[in-house]
Amino acid sequence: MDKYLLDQKNYSMFICKYKNVEEMKEAQIRYRLNNPQSKEEQKIYWEQNKESISEKRKQKINCECGTSFNLSGKSRHLKTKKHLSYLESKKTTF
Ligand SMILES: [Zn+2]
Repeated sequence: MDKYLLDQKNYSMFICKYKNVEEMKEAQIRYRLNNPQSKEEQKIYWEQNKESISEKRKQKINCECGTSFNLSGKSRHLKTKKHLSYLESKKTTF
């Protein structure tokens, strides 16, 4: 039972995290940038993606909780009371 609830929570966190394929790609790029195999790889990834990355950073994202935020403020937003209470309410109505 606990495990089931945990899975539900993780699932909704995941859904909120990646709304579409583009975001998932972006997350992968950022992961590679933050965890590169080598400095060289980091440089290559950054060079290949810096334009789309800086472009994306300026974009406003509408979260399913009804708030919009910048990509750079995303992880901060996911911890806000409003977002967490949204997730909470979704869980209880489920
Ligand atoms: Zn939210």
